Amino acid sequence: MLIVMDSDAPAEQIRGVVEKIESMGLRAHPIPGAQRTAIGITGNSGPLDPAEFETLPGVRAAIPVTRAYKLVGREARPEGSVIRVGEVRIGGPEFPIIAGPCAVESEAMMLRTAVALRSAGADLLRGGAYKPRTSPYAFQGLGEEGLRILVRARRESGLPVVTEALDVESFGRVEEVADMVQIGARNMQNFALLRRAGRSARPVLLKRGMSATLEELLMAAEYVVAEGNQQVVLCERGVRTFSDHSRNTMDLNVVPAVQSLSHLPIVVDPSHGTGRRDRVAPLARAALAVGASGVMVEVHPDPERALSDGPQSLRLDQFEALMRELRAIGPPLGRHINPGSDH
Ligand code: PEP
Ligand code: MN
Repeated sequence: MLIVMDSDAPAEQIRGVVEKIESMGLRAHPIPGAQRTAIGITGNSGPLDPAEFETLPGVRAAIPVTRAYKLVGREARPEGSVIRVGEVRIGGPEFPIIAGPCAVESEAMMLRTAVALRSAGADLLRGGAYKPRTSPYAFQGLGEEGLRILVRARRESGLPVVTEALDVESFGRVEEVADMVQIGARNMQNFALLRRAGRSARPVLLKRGMSATLEELLMAAEYVVAEGNQQVVLCERGVRTFSDHSRNTMDLNVVPAVQSLSHLPIVVDPSHGTGRRDRVAPLARAALAVGASGVMVEVHPDPERALSDGPQSLRLDQFEALMRELRAIGPPLGRHINPGSDH
């Protein structure tokens, strides 16, 4: 059930509805919106009677929610969510660019890359300190040293930092440092981790599992929001198909699908989506054209020597070229692209 309040309902009327819900042994999730507040109800085992709520002061409507996800559904916030990461807004008319190497490899590399990305116009800096690797013998990330380097890279570049939390155990260390915590594709259904992210004060970048349906992705986001953290950004990073010409298949079709079903913003990661450097710019341009809320791209100063995902990492000059292209395409589509400081 979703309770939609009148647009001018004062805080005490919202509190009254919350108290009524809690008195029934259920959980209330207020979802403030630009026009009005909605209140999601969870914890009920069967359908609720709308009449129980419709007569409460300030209630405009009580809408039964038939879909499995209640809090991330579009009805809860029809105008869409805008998630803030520092000064950066994801879900508005801006088209934020998240850029950086796959992994934090060394302090010198990270600082140099961060400063260059900043002047080229990146909005957020990415880089994994903890890396989910298919092989246990592959580079696993610098761990806590990687987190310390990210702090320095933020200080040098001024860019807020997005980095991955691999497990519940290290989540606290990651959230202390990160401006946004990434949950990777392999962990999209790690429910303990999703719950932990739901209790964090940090915004969450939730990547789609490599064979996850849209419903599974939205249910994963519901785990986070149900714990109280409404700051979730979804990320399409390609799914596994029979295609043999790229690492994954970029499902750009999912962007308008998410936008019709959910209020959460969705960004696109053409680096993992294609696995090939030569495909990243075309698919990043396509992500802008299809209406995504932003892109995440891997950039490395020397991709041939990268410790992970070199083949899909742009060189710095290629990233600058991509930024110029996005700046040309963005404004006619009503999207603002960071001008960078080189321009
Ligand atoms: C990454 O962002 O480097 C990463 C590991 O992504 P994914 O979880 O989408 O594979
Ligand atoms: Mn990567």
